[in-house]
Amino acid sequence: MMDFHERCPELAERETRSIFAGPRGILPPDEYGFVEYYCANPACDCRQVLIVVLARNSPDTPAAFIRYGWESEEFYRRWFEERPEEEAAELFRELTTATLDSIASQSSFAGYLLNQFQGMIANESEFAARFERHYRAFRATLKSKNPQGADRRPPKRRRK
Ligand SMILES: [Zn+2]
Repeated sequence: MMDFHERCPELAERETRSIFAGPRGILPPDEYGFVEYYCANPACDCRQVLIVVLARNSPDTPAAFIRYGWESEEFYRRWFEERPEEEAAELFRELTTATLDSIASQSSFAGYLLNQFQGMIANESEFAARFERHYRAFRATLKSKNPQGADRRPPKRRRK
């Protein structure tokens, strides 16, 4: 999985969701960014996002790792059956409603953050729809090899 910012920096800058936690909530007070990661294998079309929830004041320790798939349960069932070695089969059902990543180490607030995320995808159709749009923009850059907007940023290693 690769950080969406690496391939689509402008879109990621504009459309990465954050929530703010105040002093009297369940979360430690901070800004929590829902940073998107997508599959960077051009031969794979797994249509899911890994969300790494990062608190601004402790960016080295992610608060949660959430997986979400916007396609139907049926899509993921077919996809996993073709690739049984890839992941556990029961993941397909959980994916469509978002789930905590089973391999990553989660903070004690991960369950709460998952609930927040599930609320956002259930109640905000624009928010839920953006992942498919981001996935397609991300995948398009894998073919071109140039990150979107890269020519407008200072060159890092090599110019084209
Ligand atoms: Zn994939």
